[in-house]
Amino acid sequence: MNWSFSLGRVSNIDIRVHFTFFFILLLGAMQWGGSLGNGQAALFGVLVTLLLFVCVLLHELGHSLVAQRLGIPVKQILLMPLGGVALLGRNPDKPRHELVIAAAGPLVNVAIIAVLLVLMPLLGFDLPSLADGRPAPGLNTLVWWMLIANVSLVLFNLIPAFPLDGGRMFRALLAMRMGNARATQIAARLGQVLAVGLGFVGLFTTNFLLILIAAFVFFGASAETGEARAREILSRVKARDAANPYAVTLNVGDRLSQVMPLLIATRQPSFAVMFNGQVMGLVTEADLRRAAAAGTGDAYIAGIMQRDFLRVDAEQTLYEVRNILAEKNSPVAAVYDGEVYLGLVTLGGIHEILRLWLTSQPGQTGSSSQPSGTVVGRA
Ligand SMILES: [Zn+2]
Repeated sequence: MNWSFSLGRVSNIDIRVHFTFFFILLLGAMQWGGSLGNGQAALFGVLVTLLLFVCVLLHELGHSLVAQRLGIPVKQILLMPLGGVALLGRNPDKPRHELVIAAAGPLVNVAIIAVLLVLMPLLGFDLPSLADGRPAPGLNTLVWWMLIANVSLVLFNLIPAFPLDGGRMFRALLAMRMGNARATQIAARLGQVLAVGLGFVGLFTTNFLLILIAAFVFFGASAETGEARAREILSRVKARDAANPYAVTLNVGDRLSQVMPLLIATRQPSFAVMFNGQVMGLVTEADLRRAAAAGTGDAYIAGIMQRDFLRVDAEQTLYEVRNILAEKNSPVAAVYDGEVYLGLVTLGGIHEILRLWLTSQPGQTGSSSQPSGTVVGRA
C-alpha cells in the first residue's frame, strides 16, 4: 500500500498509518495552539489527536481480533484522517460471524467509556469550563474529550448504513432471515437513503466533513451491493467449470527463451509446468518477467516455477476459490478432481466470468466491483 508506513505488527496484523495523518496532527496542534496562542496548547492538541487515534486503533483491533478468532485472516489495519480500516482476507460467511465482528469495534469504545467513567471520580474530575469557547488544556479536558470522542464513535457506528458497522450489523440481522443478496440490497438501499439525508444536512449546515462522510457511505453501499451480487453469481459456478482445459502448459525442460514468446501469443497470465502428465509447479507472468529481468541467462523453467502452489477441489465454488486466492495472496490455483489435474483458475479469469455473467443478463451493466478483500469498519 502506497502513501502509508508500518507502525509494527499486532497479532500478526500489519498496523499502517497513512501519510496524510500528519496533517491531522498539525490541524490538532493549530486548533488548540492557534486559539490559545501558545506552544503548550499546541502540544496538547497533538496529544488529544494521538489519543483519539489510539481509540480508533483499538476499535479496529476489536474487529480484527474477533475476526481472527473466527478463522478469518486480517491483512492490515490502516489509520487514515477519516478513521481506521481493517482489511480482512475474506468476507465472513455466516451472518452471525459478521454480526459479532461488526459489533466488536463499537464495543471496544463502550469499554473505553466504562474505564473513563470509573476513572473520572478517582481523578477528581470536574466538567471543564467552556466559557471562552475552548477549555484549557489539562487532565480534565483530556478525559472529557476522550469521553465525547468515544461516545461519538459508538453513536456514529450505530447508524445502519454501509459501510459503517451499524450497516453491517443490520445486514447480518436481515441475512439471518433472508438470503445474503436480498439482505444486502435492503441494507444498501437504506444506507444510500441515509447518506443522501446526511449529505443534505451537511450542505445546509455547510459541514464539509459530513458531506464527505455522506459520499463515503453512498459509494460504500453500492460497492457492497456489487460484492453481494458477485458472491451470488460466483457461488453458482464450480471450479471445474472455470478451469481452462485448453490452456497451454509447459515442460520442466523448457527454457525461458522458448516461453517468453508464449506469454505474448497465448496472453495466458500463468502456466502449469508438467512432467509425465503431473503438474510439477506453476509460473506466472510476473515470475517469468522477473527471471528475464534478472539477466541470469536462459534459465530452465523448473528453476523459475513455484513448486509450492495452491490446489483447489473441482467441486469448490468460485466464491470459495476467490476467498482462498485472496487469503493466500495468490493470483492462481490448480484445480484437481481427486488426483486428476483439470486446469488453472486465476483471479483475472474469475473477474472475467463475473463480467460475462453480469453483461449477459438483461438490465445489468458490466460495472462489477472487483474487491480483493473486504473492509470492516471506519470509525
Ligand atoms: Zn468499526
